Amino acid sequence: MKLQLRKTHGFFIALLLVSGLLMSAAAQSKTSPNILVIVADDLGYADLGFQGAKDIPTPNLDALAARSIRMTNGYVSHPFCSPTRAGLLSGRYQQRFGHETNPAWEQPEAGLPLSQTTLPQVLNAAGYATGMVGKWHLGHAPGLRPNQRGFDEYFGLLGGGHLYFPNAKNNSAEYSIPMNRNGKDEPMAEYLTDQLGNEASAYVKRHANKAQSQPWFLYLAFNAPHTPLQPHERHLAKVAGIADQKRRNYAGLVVGLDEAVGNVLQTLRASGQEQNTMVWFFSDNGGPVDVTNSSNAPLRGAKGQVFEGGIRVPFLLSWPARFPKASRFDHPVIALDVFATVAALTNAKVPASHQLEGIDLLPYLTDSKKGAPPRKLFWRMGGGTNWAVRDQQWKLLKAGEAAPQLFNLTADVGETTNVAAQQPAVATRLQAAYDEWNKHNIAPTFLSPPDLRRQPPAKK
Ligand code: CA
Repeated sequence: MKLQLRKTHGFFIALLLVSGLLMSAAAQSKTSPNILVIVADDLGYADLGFQGAKDIPTPNLDALAARSIRMTNGYVSHPFCSPTRAGLLSGRYQQRFGHETNPAWEQPEAGLPLSQTTLPQVLNAAGYATGMVGKWHLGHAPGLRPNQRGFDEYFGLLGGGHLYFPNAKNNSAEYSIPMNRNGKDEPMAEYLTDQLGNEASAYVKRHANKAQSQPWFLYLAFNAPHTPLQPHERHLAKVAGIADQKRRNYAGLVVGLDEAVGNVLQTLRASGQEQNTMVWFFSDNGGPVDVTNSSNAPLRGAKGQVFEGGIRVPFLLSWPARFPKASRFDHPVIALDVFATVAALTNAKVPASHQLEGIDLLPYLTDSKKGAPPRKLFWRMGGGTNWAVRDQQWKLLKAGEAAPQLFNLTADVGETTNVAAQQPAVATRLQAAYDEWNKHNIAPTFLSPPDLRRQPPAKK
């Protein structure tokens, strides 16, 4: 009898456990969207149709924008490649952990430090499948690669850029290495932007049937339209009307990016996942205007600067199941918010020691919280030689030796008129805010390639 009871008891416990698991799986599939983060590389602020471009056709990104929340004051946390990505994947200001320059290829151990928890790590622990396709640029030593930082699957280029055609050669080891698939070298199979689009598309398809029981997170980081300016003829044909050769080649890379994004989004739709997939799109920094004849109009400055042209980027969020209509959000947001938003949405557990510095945007986007998020945004490069702080319409900016300049971005988005003398109290307040924020930063822990040429390599 006793045994029988115990057995029955055990059976009920098992039943409860199973039904509990089933319920939590059902609840999860109902509330947890797939998450697709698409990042462009060195894209000019004005170089997409929905951002005002007239000479570059980008129908796929325009269609995405037409069903998205367009963040008109969308920022990244750095004006160039690697630090922005460190901020995105850690959800923290990358100056907190010394990631303030691009790691040199000759220093494979330089990258996103293992002390930092990544977004795919917490999503993985929350039951998500995690994949990455594309440019890593966060350290290429074996222990620092995507598969070691929370991604179940990876295909792409481990460095900061790459030649676009298979078998192309140049003097850069970083730009000529084979692709990497889950830790193993693999020759590039086709034009790079096409291949990254096809790989991402295959990922979306492969996980479609599982998405009900296991949602997925895919980080798709294109290297287009970063140099080298090597467009495919198929893409170049669509911008043949651009007279300037440099801009034409750059525009060809943008067309390739648009087409590859279209490929992935079409697969999302065809596999029935468009409604419940949250898609983020932005560039990792502004256009390097002189290098590619990209355009950041009407913003001042370019990649490598803390003027708006370096840090304000095209920024979209689409999630038709939650936001069926397109809209605009004009308050400042930053790519650091992706981690906080996604973690809150998915109930992913973030270790208490890993202090996220973005915010959950959803309450603001759903109007449950009105107005602008109550926070300031900060930028610092060169260990503090250049920095900026934004608070509502105000931005205080230090560029090299010049005294800090104050701009009213609502009245003067092009940062043409320094009003520090007219608004000394605002300038003082923002300087104090920057100083306080900066107290919690550390010196850069590794050096960028140009620094390496002048100085001995940093100690490990
Ligand atoms: Ca970049």
